[in-house]
Amino acid sequence: MALDKRQSQTDILQLLRGRVEMTRADIAAELGLSMPTVINNVNLMVQNGILEECGSEQSTGGRRARRIRLKTDAAYAVGINVAVHHVSMALTDLQGEILENVREEMIFSDTLDWYRELGSRLRNFVDRCGIPGDKILGVGISFPGIIDEDGNEVIRSHIFGLSHMSTDRFRRFIPWPLTIANDANCGCRSELAPGRDSYLYVSLSTSVGGSIMVNGRIFIGDTRQAGEIGHMILVPGGRRCYCGKKGCADPYLSSMLLRNTLQMPELTRKEQMSLFFEKLEAGDPDCSRVWDTYLNDLAVLLTNLRMALDMNIIIGGEVGRYMEPHLEELINKMTGYDLFQRDIDYVLACRPRNAFTAGAANLALDAFIGTLLEQA
Ligand SMILES: [Zn+2]
Repeated sequence: MALDKRQSQTDILQLLRGRVEMTRADIAAELGLSMPTVINNVNLMVQNGILEECGSEQSTGGRRARRIRLKTDAAYAVGINVAVHHVSMALTDLQGEILENVREEMIFSDTLDWYRELGSRLRNFVDRCGIPGDKILGVGISFPGIIDEDGNEVIRSHIFGLSHMSTDRFRRFIPWPLTIANDANCGCRSELAPGRDSYLYVSLSTSVGGSIMVNGRIFIGDTRQAGEIGHMILVPGGRRCYCGKKGCADPYLSSMLLRNTLQMPELTRKEQMSLFFEKLEAGDPDCSRVWDTYLNDLAVLLTNLRMALDMNIIIGGEVGRYMEPHLEELINKMTGYDLFQRDIDYVLACRPRNAFTAGAANLALDAFIGTLLEQA
């Protein structure tokens, strides 16, 4: 019962994030909820200052129906993405719009000093944004690993060589309610939009991950590893993966392959990515050759995933940001494998935004909604 109510509030907020103003009846119709459920949940969120009433419209019965909307500046959330060599942070309003963001070069190490430093940089970031601490409703962390259901433990992180790590290490230095989730799941959440609630999100960065959204919910799987597409075997007996196996998709589709073509270690990773695509566009032969092989491998993986899931595929991560102008080339390669579908229209590039941090902030907002229910 409690979970149903929490889900209803999350659904209502998700809906209002995409629409400017709606009446209670519109919300009930759109979400397939009963009017009493919508009225109770909306009233609770109006009392808590998250939603506000804003004008009214004539209904067919002659009664005036009040429209409601998100009070976007009522509170803020912070999303943090922890990567191997850096941490990025974003401040969002209730609409999930990123207002400020920062990237901090910090090489991850599971030490007290690292967590203390993260807490200190986070407080500095919030101060610089000029937001009083009590307006921050929570912090969401996107972490490359498998996280337990309650967010209390990182069950395993291959890339950091961690297992069964308590997330209290983060809480010790972060003075706001904290929620933690797998990074690809956070990226996946950031692509939710009206009319788009079922898709596979493929994250192509230093490591390769994925996440499956079904009817607006992340599909987790029996052992919480659904969407770990970086460790599907692409080439039996092929290159060694950091997970210990040979031939996983990860060592063929890591963004590192593209960056390493340049052999310019003095540049930051972000600069290397941008330069790679600049040189590719200018027809550089080395970049073109590496990119062609990369797209061939990606085409095989995506065609197989489409066969298994039969849903849209959104390409995100570091590479996803540069994908839009290259989609046609990728689709041409996929056409050679997918004889079931003449026109491939299911592959999309991600929206150009900081997906992991935005999704993590979104997670903090949903967690906050859960606490409203507990207070009710
Ligand atoms: Zn692997």
